[in-house]
Amino acid sequence: LPKRLQGSKPSVWNEYIALAMQYKPLNLGQGFPDELPPSYVTDALADIAKSDNPMLQQYTRGYGHVRLVQALSKLYSKLVDREINPLSEILITSGAYEALYSSIMGHIDVGDEVIIIEPFFDCYEPMVKMAGGVPRFIALKPNKSNGTITSADWVLDDAELEQLFNNKTKMIILNTPHNPIGKVFHREELERIAALCRKWNVLCLSDEVYEWMVYDDAKHIRICTLPGMWERTITIGSAGKTFSVTGWKIGWAYGPANLITNLQMVHQNSVYTCPTPIQEAVARGFELELERLNSPDCYFNSLPQELKVKRDFMAKFLNDAGLKPTIPEGGYFMLADWSKLGNKIDLSSEGDQYQDYKFTKWMTKNMGLQGIPPSAFYGEDHKNLGESFVRYCFIKKQENLEKAAELLKKWK
Ligand code: PMP
Ligand code: GLN
Repeated sequence: LPKRLQGSKPSVWNEYIALAMQYKPLNLGQGFPDELPPSYVTDALADIAKSDNPMLQQYTRGYGHVRLVQALSKLYSKLVDREINPLSEILITSGAYEALYSSIMGHIDVGDEVIIIEPFFDCYEPMVKMAGGVPRFIALKPNKSNGTITSADWVLDDAELEQLFNNKTKMIILNTPHNPIGKVFHREELERIAALCRKWNVLCLSDEVYEWMVYDDAKHIRICTLPGMWERTITIGSAGKTFSVTGWKIGWAYGPANLITNLQMVHQNSVYTCPTPIQEAVARGFELELERLNSPDCYFNSLPQELKVKRDFMAKFLNDAGLKPTIPEGGYFMLADWSKLGNKIDLSSEGDQYQDYKFTKWMTKNMGLQGIPPSAFYGEDHKNLGESFVRYCFIKKQENLEKAAELLKKWK
């Protein structure tokens, strides 16, 4: 076994998808919508499949299909208020996953330290290790324990963050809106991170796949727009999240050409080029939305409106069942603290090491409801911080959310 794979284990996704296939629970685990995506996106793919342009079925430009990078350049130039070069400052990848992978492989050398904020989307840690880097963790922690808790109450300790930065620090990975907490980092929080990046000459890898899913007064701020940050930030997005087509696996990274070129090298030597028809369909989707960005009909505006209703519905039924939720400001996941239920269930039949794994497996088998164990999103030393929580996904049709509510009611 090569050294870079030593200690690798199947991810929580592979384990929990197998579990769902075996027990067929109502699946609020892995994050994906259970309704049809907007029809103009799937219609575009159908048209492309039947097109008489033969080139639409062949290889396209390795660093990204031209029509797609052009559409993304138009969109993000507007959003970050600077001209983004479609050919040198954007890379199209096989999902945001590959954008993360190419960014990390393209920039992290053996011994480089990478700051990862816990809980974190689970692949950050193995990717950093695969590159020979050293993950340094810092946890978001709730700063209150009673009353309504929102994702804004989960914060970083400033002094602890400052202490993590040193001469070996190469990169910090930021995720806003956040999976699994739903935190949308506020301007002051981003400014503190940016100041440390500038001080220690550190790159920021900003995973913003949930950029359109923000609720109430929360505002998604792109850290690359803060002073002195464009030149040190790589920002990542996902068509799967943007258009509710997670199976399409198209993502992107944008940033200054001198940083993106390293990603291009990793990409050309592994993936080389992403599927042409899918890139063309995503490009057409963006072109349509670009014409109506400020209209309520724009999917980027209508989707969060729909999701907010689902969020509120889920928060209520979880609360009613004694699972205390953290109300998310963004994204489509909700953390709930199940520790008050501990005395109602007997987890001794489950052999896992961590309580949240036991709880979620027990729930799948005995209640027919699947969630994700958040300790999967912590480094080895901090798994205890996730153990009293479960993560549920709320981008599900009303009927299924109601089923979940019913299942939990029966139990009371
Ligand atoms: N980052 C985060 C925070 C995510 O939740 C996901 C969802 N899987 C990804 C990256 C990967 O996105 P994609 O499906 O486009 O690879
Ligand atoms: N982003 C989704 C989630 O967090 C899917 C993750 C995955 O399948 N790897 O549930």
